[in-house]
Amino acid sequence: MATLNRRRFLALSGLSAMGAWLGTASVLAAERDAAGLLPRNLWTSPRFASSPFTVGVASGDPTPDGAVLWTRLAPQPLEFGSGMPPRPLLVHWEVAADPQMRQVVQHGASLAHPELGHAVHVELAGLLPARPYWYRFSVADHHSAVGMTRTLPAADAPVDLLRFAVAGCQHYEEGHFTAWRHIAEEPLDFVFHYGDYIYEGASQPGVRSMNGRPFTNLRNHVGEQTYTLDDYRRRYAQYKTDPDLQAAHAAAPWFVTFDDHEVDNNWAGAQDQDGTPSEVFLLRRAQAFQAYYENMPLRRSALPRNGHMQLYRRARFGRLMDLHVLDTRQYRSRQVPIADRTQVESPARSIVGAGQEQWLFDGLADRAPRWHTIAHQVSLGNYAREKDGVIVSSDDQWSGYLDSRRRLLEHIQRTGQGNVVTACGDAHRHYASDLVQDNRDSGIISSEFLATSITSGADGQGEDEFARNTLRHSPHLRAVTDKRGYVLCEVTDKHWIGDMKILDQVMQPGGTLSRWRRYAVEHGRPGLQEA
Ligand code: FE
Ligand code: CA
Repeated sequence: MATLNRRRFLALSGLSAMGAWLGTASVLAAERDAAGLLPRNLWTSPRFASSPFTVGVASGDPTPDGAVLWTRLAPQPLEFGSGMPPRPLLVHWEVAADPQMRQVVQHGASLAHPELGHAVHVELAGLLPARPYWYRFSVADHHSAVGMTRTLPAADAPVDLLRFAVAGCQHYEEGHFTAWRHIAEEPLDFVFHYGDYIYEGASQPGVRSMNGRPFTNLRNHVGEQTYTLDDYRRRYAQYKTDPDLQAAHAAAPWFVTFDDHEVDNNWAGAQDQDGTPSEVFLLRRAQAFQAYYENMPLRRSALPRNGHMQLYRRARFGRLMDLHVLDTRQYRSRQVPIADRTQVESPARSIVGAGQEQWLFDGLADRAPRWHTIAHQVSLGNYAREKDGVIVSSDDQWSGYLDSRRRLLEHIQRTGQGNVVTACGDAHRHYASDLVQDNRDSGIISSEFLATSITSGADGQGEDEFARNTLRHSPHLRAVTDKRGYVLCEVTDKHWIGDMKILDQVMQPGGTLSRWRRYAVEHGRPGLQEA
């Protein structure tokens, strides 16, 4: 009883400062939300010399009645510890029906724990479907920016149009996040981030070579290569101080998944690229997973437990579309050299793992949605090119796990609706391609929109020799270019359209956005059509 009384006392005293500007009703609500949950070491009267809201706000993983709201307190984002004392504190949040935050429909207080880098994840419920909401956070006398989120349509609702952006690969050193600014200005239902949200490497000062040309970083990573939780936290904080990235997060809910660079280049399951013993690499991976959870608008179900993170998941957009977000890193088999055909084609190897594969197959067999979109990381397109007289493809993409690829395409063909499209990234170029089985007259089974990077690769050279080489050796690849940008997707009853956007430059601010290619897939008729 003594404990309960003490908690209750702390709750009331801690919230009195908030009451001054929120009004008594809000304090009571906040107290009710937190009743019995307040830790003994609560920081009851937080004070900040400068705003703790330096890394922005975000929302994600919407449902028909809610979404996750996110922020992280970081008054000194580039310092280890982010300028925060190692104590938990309450952060107040409000959800409104209008951008001016006048019609507040829900509010409450959530704990920011030092164990989670003072991140806040609020899982909303009880909202109306298919409509925008605005939100903000407050602590002491500081307010965050206002973000907009959007609930999903009811599961059985008709939906005329979905618009979403597919983007990722945002190397901080290799360009301005201009593409995020453009995405922030698009009217979108959501953003799918396919990974490479951060890059783990140390900064390489001076002139280096990039794609055969001399290159100097636009801006530099702070710190060495990321290994510890503090390293990863600071790397996310540095990326998230970018105003264009903050604007895109504040503009729409995101569905995120990681690729390799959130942990280490080309990691696969329990293996890194350096041959570190698995049990040692898994210690690093666990810290990277925790930092990823802390910095993304993810549900509690994705909180890492025992070194594992549940990231593959589904969302249903009424009767129009199911989105299947994959994790092609955590369960994948060890990488093998692409020349080792026995291994590359071995049915024992998988890029998604047996459990996720079955989950995906079950989802794709569902006839309720008009369209299925597979939202994943690396190319399913199996692109080949000639290098030193040998035809090569990537050992890090589905092309390195050919039986996984074969099984997925076979399943899509067998379920037979002609309504599956895939969206991914990682290659730092736009690729638009039809998907067919290798060495078999399967006909076109599906199509892939592979979105280029936000910045990785810097300005880019357009349709260069690499692109021409790949087009020559990849018969179902329609187009490829080395430019920065994103794919804007529009889904209707009849068509799934990918509008592939490029920027003329990212090494200077204010690059000009244009349409590079636009393709449509007609429902029931697999294959890209010019649109
Ligand atoms: Fe990348
Ligand atoms: Ca990657």
